[in-house]
Amino acid sequence: MRTKNTAMWLRRWPLSARLLVLSALVTIIGFTAICATVMLDMRHGTEALARQSSENLAATLDSDIGRTVEVYDLSLRAVIAGLAVPAMAELSKEMRQLILFDNAASVLQHGAIQVFDTQGDVIIDATTLEPAKLNVWDDEFFMVHRSDGERGLFISRPMLHSGAYSVVLSRRITDGAGNFAGVVAGSIRVSYFHELFGRLRLNLNDNITVLRRDGVVIMRFPFDFDVLGRDLGKIPGLLRMLARADGSYSGIGAIDRIRRLYTWRDSGRPLLVLVGKSWADIASMWQTQASWIGGIVLALVGFIISVTLFSAREIGRRACAEDRLEELATTDALTGLRNRRKFDSAIDLEWRRAIRNAQPLAMLLIDADYFKIFNDSFGHQAGDQALIGIARSIAQSTNRAGDCAARYGGEEFAVLLPGISAEEALIVAENIRRRVEALPAEPAALTVSIGVASMEPLVTTEWSRLVEAADKALYAAKDAGRNQSVISSPSHFLLAA
Ligand code: GH3
Ligand code: MG
Ligand code: MG
Repeated sequence: MRTKNTAMWLRRWPLSARLLVLSALVTIIGFTAICATVMLDMRHGTEALARQSSENLAATLDSDIGRTVEVYDLSLRAVIAGLAVPAMAELSKEMRQLILFDNAASVLQHGAIQVFDTQGDVIIDATTLEPAKLNVWDDEFFMVHRSDGERGLFISRPMLHSGAYSVVLSRRITDGAGNFAGVVAGSIRVSYFHELFGRLRLNLNDNITVLRRDGVVIMRFPFDFDVLGRDLGKIPGLLRMLARADGSYSGIGAIDRIRRLYTWRDSGRPLLVLVGKSWADIASMWQTQASWIGGIVLALVGFIISVTLFSAREIGRRACAEDRLEELATTDALTGLRNRRKFDSAIDLEWRRAIRNAQPLAMLLIDADYFKIFNDSFGHQAGDQALIGIARSIAQSTNRAGDCAARYGGEEFAVLLPGISAEEALIVAENIRRRVEALPAEPAALTVSIGVASMEPLVTTEWSRLVEAADKALYAAKDAGRNQSVISSPSHFLLAA
């Protein structure tokens, strides 16, 4: 119901108002499209920036951690190489310490390098000439080297080692015959990672995970004790994805179920650094700006809509007022019929249309008989009422779409009847005449005489010819005794009634 009313309301608007609404709509659509493009660009830009900064962070950490492991591994290799020298057994403990161990072990966050025999007992310790009794037979790193053969550097899960929570780095010692001859091991304390990650400024939901190649978590920041040592390699497809040199993927955190963008750079080192950035944080970076822009655009759109509707309504009202004024200016105040001005413009229009369509245009000229006497006898007001009665009779008889009935002047009326012949127009004229005749004789009976004319106009003829013909026919009707209709004819006049 409401939409129907709106549709009717819109239909009543003039073309200019509808064009205004249309241009406002186009502007709003354009505005919205630009705004959406800017927001999408902003979103892509922010995502690209977040990806880039994550990649850079992953690359830097990978390089730092990788180098630390490498340097430590070099120390382990140096120990193995030193132990392989036969003369080493003959040297004093002090000399052996000096040759085997470099300064790598003296860094605060690195545990002492120790050498274990085939039974897991410590035999050499970089920090002391007389190592305390210690057996690592059951430790993961010792078991791996004892049973797996040569496998290079092994990095253990985070574990309690030499009194500190650490990641143990170890290598197998193999004798000349290729048999297991013990293990050399050192450790990197968890505090190393704490200090490394503590220097970074991260968002609350960001995280960094250091993984062993098989997916075991070596370290996670923010620190979570329960996560250390967890095997993420079991997550379907994760290892396959991480096998790519570098890249990123969007996934839900296996531990805290937060959706993140995970980025990594793989330089082929034993440990892999995975930087996770929460999508909510990335989104919040552009959403604040986007909501500002969106809000401003929405306010603008609202402003455009209200101004447009207001203006369109004003245009509509003005058009209505103009229509009413036009109606007033073209209507005869006494009878309500069209006035002479309107009749002249109507005949001009219909004349040209009749030329175009090659159709006849008929005209009636109606004049009240002896109206001066009527007026003089019964007064001007009674005369006015009689004129209103005649006008009503004319209006009742001329109700086709193109018909135009007008008060031509004083007690004269004119009717335009497009598309009909003089004979057909005579029927209308007679209809009018009889209606007037039948009007109540109050205060006295009244009649009219009607001149009828119809022409098929040519481009060269003026419409005044039609008026003249109707006028002549009217005179003929008067001359013939009044209260009758007469058809104009070039040579003679046909009388009726
Ligand atoms: P005829 O039959 O030859 O037409 O005679 P007539 O008396 O009708 O013609 P005439 O032109 O002599 O008189 C017209 C009269 O119409 C004169 C005038 O008093 C009257 N008249 C013209 N306009 C009005 C009007 O608006 N109101 C009234 N009451 N009378 C009008
Ligand atoms: Mg008259
Ligand atoms: Mg007259």
